[in-house]
Amino acid sequence: MTQMLVGQSFLIIVNGLILVVTALAVAPSIFNEHLHDAGVVSASARTHILEAYISSFNASLLIAAFSSIVISGGLSWYFMVRIVKPIKEVTDFAEMLASGDLDARTPIENSIPELNRLTDALAGMSVDLALSREEQSRLLSDLAHELRTPISTVLAIVDGIEDAVIQPDARTWKTIRDQLERVNRLSHDVREVTQNSEKLLNTMSSAVNPGDIAKAAYAAWNPRIGRKGINFELEIEPDLPQIYVDPQRIGQVLSNLLENALRYTPIGGKIDLTVLRAIDRVHFAVVDSGQGIEAHQLPHIFDRLYRGDAARHSGDSGSGLGLTIARSIAQSHGGELTGMSEGRDLGSTFTLSLPIPTQLIS
Ligand code: ADP
Repeated sequence: MTQMLVGQSFLIIVNGLILVVTALAVAPSIFNEHLHDAGVVSASARTHILEAYISSFNASLLIAAFSSIVISGGLSWYFMVRIVKPIKEVTDFAEMLASGDLDARTPIENSIPELNRLTDALAGMSVDLALSREEQSRLLSDLAHELRTPISTVLAIVDGIEDAVIQPDARTWKTIRDQLERVNRLSHDVREVTQNSEKLLNTMSSAVNPGDIAKAAYAAWNPRIGRKGINFELEIEPDLPQIYVDPQRIGQVLSNLLENALRYTPIGGKIDLTVLRAIDRVHFAVVDSGQGIEAHQLPHIFDRLYRGDAARHSGDSGSGLGLTIARSIAQSHGGELTGMSEGRDLGSTFTLSLPIPTQLIS
């Protein structure tokens, strides 16, 4: 502000000087000519009139200079304050955000459009930062909560063995193993979630046949599903167009869905993996005849760390992150992952739909 004021005052002074010097240099000779034209020929009368003119001219010049300095100085000050004040407010706002105070009050709108845009961008950034900070702390507290159950179960068993109230028999070891597997899986899946955004940037997409991805997933899961006595079938619509995806990542989505289908389908059940075309999309569907999902749980199954009632009570080693990861992979390919169930014990259907590149839609 001081710099701007000094610069402005300098301009006013230079302006004033040019005005005064020019007026002093030009006005007397013009006036003299007018006297001559008016027929004032007496030299003494002309000198006298000219002196009177110059003294009144100087006096008015002085008054004009003074009022001009006061008025233009005042106006400069007024405009300077109008410009500098909002700049200062936005700078203070940015500094508060930088120091981590995301609750800093957003400066009110001012008359400078560029500054308003900057303020809006900063405010948007602070909201994003607040959300991701909130998200991070929620993830940490959810995780702490999820880790507490298996760890305290194992600790209680160890205490029981030490006090000889629990026998270290096969059942005890199985409980310990199940709980540790759960911790293990949690840590693996959390890593997966945190690396997800980074990995998504490194997605290696190429034109692939959707049937090939399904065949690979079928081959990988058929032995495990078969061992549990579940009937597993693969159906691929002929002549499917190619899709532009990272086959590893889409394979990972199918793997998550098949793992869930296996986990939540009892012995003697059925799992189908089908690949179909629907106009501009290819649908991969994993349909199982398992325990199904109740209506009130359906809206939450893609939430991070969400596990359905049955999953929580079965001592199962799922982390509640599988579907979260799978959906984010689907979305990063411009696709969608949805889950559906008619209700308890009526099976579930998960559908991954991926876009067919426009040039291949016929
Ligand atoms: P988890 O590791 O617990 O399986 P997911 O994110 O994969 O976590 O799934 C979240 C929840 O959705 C599960 O706990 C379960 O309640 C429900 N769910 C997912 N897939 C199925 C399925 N095929 N059948 C029944 N319930 C399912």
